[in-house]
Amino acid sequence: MKIAITKRDLLRASSGAALLAATGKSLARRPGQRTEGWDLIVVGGGNAGMPAAIFAAERGAKVLVIEAASALGGTLYLSSGQMSAAGTKLQQAKGIEDSPELHYADIMRISKSTANPALARLATDNAGRTFDWLMENGFEVHPQHPVEGTTHEPYSVARYAWGKEGGRSILKVLNQELAPHLESGLVTTLLETRATDLITDDKDNVLGVKTSSADGSQDHYGDNVVLTAGGYASNDRLFEELEGTSRACVCSYPNSQGAGIGLGLSVGGYLRGAENHLPLFGGVFASDDYPSPLIGTHRPLPPHTMPWGIYVNAQGRRFMAEDVPSHDAHEVALGEQSNERCWLVFDDEMINKMESFIGRWTREDAMKAFDSGQAFFFKAESPAELARKANINIDGLSETIEEYNAGREHGNDRYGRKHMPLPLQKAPFYAIQLQGWLLTSFAGLAVNEDLQVIRKDGSGIPNLYAAGELLGTGNLSGKAYCGGMLVTPALTFGRLLGQKILKFA
Ligand SMILES: Cc1cc2nc3c(=O)[nH]c(=O)nc-3n(C[C@H](O)[C@H](O)[C@H](O)COP(=O)(O)OP(=O)(O)OC[C@H]3O[C@@H](n4cnc5c(N)ncnc54)[C@H](O)[C@@H]3O)c2cc1C
Repeated sequence: MKIAITKRDLLRASSGAALLAATGKSLARRPGQRTEGWDLIVVGGGNAGMPAAIFAAERGAKVLVIEAASALGGTLYLSSGQMSAAGTKLQQAKGIEDSPELHYADIMRISKSTANPALARLATDNAGRTFDWLMENGFEVHPQHPVEGTTHEPYSVARYAWGKEGGRSILKVLNQELAPHLESGLVTTLLETRATDLITDDKDNVLGVKTSSADGSQDHYGDNVVLTAGGYASNDRLFEELEGTSRACVCSYPNSQGAGIGLGLSVGGYLRGAENHLPLFGGVFASDDYPSPLIGTHRPLPPHTMPWGIYVNAQGRRFMAEDVPSHDAHEVALGEQSNERCWLVFDDEMINKMESFIGRWTREDAMKAFDSGQAFFFKAESPAELARKANINIDGLSETIEEYNAGREHGNDRYGRKHMPLPLQKAPFYAIQLQGWLLTSFAGLAVNEDLQVIRKDGSGIPNLYAAGELLGTGNLSGKAYCGGMLVTPALTFGRLLGQKILKFA
């Protein structure tokens, strides 16, 4: 996937991209050159790396940001930028009572205590201040926010907010706050430059970073190295190796290749959180040659949108009450099916009642997809023919439909479903194949409460820190999707590292 960073973005990306490029080229683009004396070297100038640089520079630190892309911002170019933060001034202004304790309790409730307690605590204790800082610096929040939740399991109070332009609204503030430090020369950025190795001494102290760019390789020496190079959700091999399933979706940031994770592992770090892998529900793809672009999602949620059809797996069996009013229940149930895949099956009477197909598709859009034989849309005159076309077990589907209709008639659905307004019996029959999908990666480098990368024995690797998605969705959010628990911790941990955790001489 080619990421759409427009010229306008580049201009916005640093008050004067020209200044950035000039600083980079004049200072450090000579092959074989060694640069030294950095208080902080940031590997990856995205959601977590930018605040680390900004807040370190505010303390007078001399910072080098190494960035593989042609502009800073990383996943913020794609991200919805949804944040969760408790005790914010925005909440107070709207009379919403909230606290970091309540936020933490919600994360533990939603993740069923699978989120890493220390990281969740650090994130929730400090998210409010991060959000306030964005607001104080011109962040344009959606006027109706905060809310309790929309596409993820709701919070117990309204603490979920984002900007009109999603992640780009956040990036706007970060660029604005970074600009004076670029101008003063406290922050230097090397764009289109990849960190390839960490430099260590014989006692395993991290001394710096080796880079590679079109101009050759270079060594950079500094007192602190912060890894903020993002997750690995765009790296097919690593994704399959760590998550145990192949990547279905082309929707993550292309540079999310796990480079920072590789650097951490190379000096003794280790990974945790992969066991919390969890797909999002209901992806419909352009093709089954995965990874494929996502064309939309089917994620109806009672009581807002009630289900009409049934979900079946490859054996043709149902596996949940389709009317359970929980995103999490849908995600967990789908995650247990083979290939994280199911089919939404319905009949001719239901299709005329259904309010929700794929994203904002109308009934006419869906009919076109069925009639044109679009991938993953199946239509047939009998359940057996439908199963054959969709590659579902034929006997399984026929038996399941009979069982569903009988349960409906006697008011005793096997899974306890209550909303069963119609029997599934009128030809033609329809099926839409729904695939589990992910935007982010679940395993991440283990760190201690100071965000220092640690070895399995718990000891910290000297001078090496990490933040952002490379800490793992499975640690920040657990085996669940807790709203905003990637963007907000990335910003917050970057801020904490730059503002107080790192020691500068
Ligand atoms: C479509 C989408 C929607 C999302 N929506 C939400 C949401 O609403 N809320 C939420 O909480 N989370 C969301 N997420 C997840 C969240 O946006 C990310 O987890 C988070 O932004 C990652 O921040 P980061 O700083 O770790 O990585 P990034 O922002 O990706 O920054 C990493 C940077 O490192 C650079 N880099 C990579 N390798 C190297 C290298 N070798 N050398 C130098 N630089 C390198 C990259 O180019 C990039 O600029 C979403 C993700 C996606 C893809």
